[in-house]
Amino acid sequence: MTYDPNNIFAKILKGDIPCNKAYEDEHVFAFHDIAPQAPVHVLVIPKGQYVDLSDFSKNASEQEIMAFHRAVAHLTTELGLNNNGYRAIANSGSNGGQEVPHYHLHLLGGRPMGVMVS
Ligand code: 5GP
Repeated sequence: MTYDPNNIFAKILKGDIPCNKAYEDEHVFAFHDIAPQAPVHVLVIPKGQYVDLSDFSKNASEQEIMAFHRAVAHLTTELGLNNNGYRAIANSGSNGGQEVPHYHLHLLGGRPMGVMVS
């Protein structure tokens, strides 16, 4: 899949579409999902143009990958997710149910998340 620079998360990164920001640094941005599936539902995205987890893991720099995971750790602490746990989901492609073709990790918590796949 080639990266579509007009996807909705690219527009959020450019500031063309508003969002409820949860975190930002040089390489990473995070914001609350517009249609939350749990009391806490945050999307963590790289600022670089990567379509999905595989693209990010293969092509991002070590700095970008480290920053991304450090941001996840920062967010799970800040959002209070570490005590009772949370679920992290990276949908990819059509079988994965990915709607937005800019890599994003869903962080879901604040309630038991139930079965892993239905
Ligand atoms: P995916 O299905 O691609 O893994 O997840 C895309 C997520 O992006 C969905 O949970 C959806 O609610 C969220 N989303 C789509 N458009 C917007 C938007 O404009 N703003 C925000 N904050 N979230 C969005």
